[in-house]
Amino acid sequence: MADLYVDGKWREPVSGGRRDIRCPADGTLAATVSEGTRPDTEAAIAAARRAFDEGSWPGTPERERGALLLRAADIIERDAKEFARAESLDTGKRLVESEYDIADVVSCFRHYGGIGGTDAGRVIDTGRDDAVSRVVYEPIGVCGLITPWNYPLLQASWKVAPALLAGNTVVLKPSELTPSTSILLMRALQEAGLPAGAANLVLGAGPEAGAPLAESPAVDMVSFTGGLDTGRRLMATAAATVKKVALELGGKNPNVVFADADFETAVDFALTAVFLHSGQVCSAGARLIVEDSLHDAFVEEVVRRARRIRLGGPFDPQAETGALISAQHREKVEAYVATGLAEGAVLRCGGGRPADRALAAGHFYLPTVLDECRQDMRVVHEESFGPVLTVERFRDEDDAVRIANDTEFGLAGAVWTQDAGKAQRVARRLRHGTVWINDYHPYVPQAEWGGFGHSGVGRELGRTGLDEYREPKHIWQNIQPRPQRWFSG
Ligand code: NAD
Repeated sequence: MADLYVDGKWREPVSGGRRDIRCPADGTLAATVSEGTRPDTEAAIAAARRAFDEGSWPGTPERERGALLLRAADIIERDAKEFARAESLDTGKRLVESEYDIADVVSCFRHYGGIGGTDAGRVIDTGRDDAVSRVVYEPIGVCGLITPWNYPLLQASWKVAPALLAGNTVVLKPSELTPSTSILLMRALQEAGLPAGAANLVLGAGPEAGAPLAESPAVDMVSFTGGLDTGRRLMATAAATVKKVALELGGKNPNVVFADADFETAVDFALTAVFLHSGQVCSAGARLIVEDSLHDAFVEEVVRRARRIRLGGPFDPQAETGALISAQHREKVEAYVATGLAEGAVLRCGGGRPADRALAAGHFYLPTVLDECRQDMRVVHEESFGPVLTVERFRDEDDAVRIANDTEFGLAGAVWTQDAGKAQRVARRLRHGTVWINDYHPYVPQAEWGGFGHSGVGRELGRTGLDEYREPKHIWQNIQPRPQRWFSG
């Protein structure tokens, strides 16, 4: 099948290349898809450029653009089973998790679709009777959207929905490891009636199919979700053409537990914070920072339950978490654990591949707890992006905040305490884009998502997540023009 979607048509790549997508849980063939290269991305950029400069989409009333997103949401919801299955086969995540993800995709499209046409900009008080002034929002132009493999369609929806609502045209380049649901998304947008060229899809490896989006002078903005190193490279490349850049990068997120927290709930969430999707979550609570007096009991219980987490494939009803995305990624996680141990961490559980032979064909790694960690250890301050929990201790509130903020990242974090005042104080002092109090992981499309520091530039979701894709324009009108006589002649 031709899987590149360019100018409203499904195309084979110029090179004729194909790529096999294998399920990380057992290596079975999940799909075989088109593998694009530079000329395909250049064709997609040209199509998006034409659709922006000459097409109907940017000038379509925002309310109608919103209505199209609502239609797309209905189509995705109608086909949710197909979407979820494809997502699970590509990523190896449990089917139930994919079902949640697809429901969130639908919510994201509904959120942005629903606000279409509700904001006509701002009228400014000029203080003068002879002038009216307003600020309106216009699309930026052609947006290159590059997405990762851990939440393939969800991350794409956070970009595609606001970018299209704002009237941009887009070229989406999903991770080469997980392209299937992006193909389904383009079909949904096509069925919903999106004009040709408004949304285009290229598939392929980052340096081939992705890099031209940052390089091309015909692209006005690049919005990227992925790793820190790739983000840095893209930002440097984009500087040459002074395009707008939005980056959602990694995280090394603190989960701060005070001694007065509800023990049972905090233990339960400490596990989901880090072991959900085997830790392949940008906001994973991978750093457990626990008050000294609670440390021993708390860690013991976390370890006892972590040992019992059941690993398995996406369609195994017993499985509680899945495999890592690739053999290469598992090796990276293994290397991080090895450096942690070499630097003095104490292995409390996990630290290896499961012995279960039924899992041997997948890239599984045991839920791992490393105790007695310090911030100067690589496994603590770099993102392993695997099922690895590091444990640090703190003495008091100031110490907790200091340790939690001692990271180059700043994506998300949580604080657990039954003292509401302390919870609010700590939440305000944490230098992270999302802070949960007595909870972990929930988000809503109405609220901004993104990070401080090296976790990125800009925000997704919420009002700001739409503004990322809009240019504000100030229009001033003198309604009683008269000569000003600044110059005498
Ligand atoms: P990655 O950086 O390897 O790849 C991300 C995307 O960039 C892929 O589509 C890839 O093909 C593309 N790419 C790679 N090299 C490129 C290049 N030179 N030019 C253009 N595109 C290129 O990241 P990944 O391994 O797919 O994803 C994991 C990372 O994503 C983690 O660091 C995680 O924290 C981060 N992430 C962040 C968020 C967030 O909201 N902040 C959400 C999900 C994932």
